Amino acid sequence: MAQERPNRLAEWLMLVRKQMPVVHEHFATWLEAVREEPRLAWETSAVRYTAYGLSGVMLIWLATTLTGSLTPPPPPSARAAATTADFHVVCSDPHCGYHFVINRKFGFDDFPVKCPQCQRETGVSARRCNSASCGGRWIAPARTDQGLQCPVCGAKLE
Ligand SMILES: [Zn+2]
Ligand SMILES: [Zn+2]
Repeated sequence: MAQERPNRLAEWLMLVRKQMPVVHEHFATWLEAVREEPRLAWETSAVRYTAYGLSGVMLIWLATTLTGSLTPPPPPSARAAATTADFHVVCSDPHCGYHFVINRKFGFDDFPVKCPQCQRETGVSARRCNSASCGGRWIAPARTDQGLQCPVCGAKLE
């Protein structure tokens, strides 16, 4: 029983060795025929399908290369601007009043934040006061009964 496997292999190898010259002969005659009439190579299905496959791969490669070059990659700054934003902050302490800008996630509203000048949690979301005396100055809006007011000039904020 143990001898059966190698014997089978040997038999198979013998068979292949016996077949090899036949395959060689077939190939040689095919090559000879192709040399006489090149159209025959195309009519051989193996050659034809290989050509189809190669041109298919070429077309896919061309398509992906073209679409890749037609749509330019977004600039790196565009992605950063989509997730974070600059927030103007003014220290609500009238003795400090420091104006600074922080970069936080879009929609951030976790005020007050730490003021880098006086080191206290007094930084509030700043607004621009467009009154004649303030002229667009960044201020910390004061909440009054009439709504938001500029603490510097007392103008009402929209
Ligand atoms: Zn401050
Ligand atoms: Zn003002």
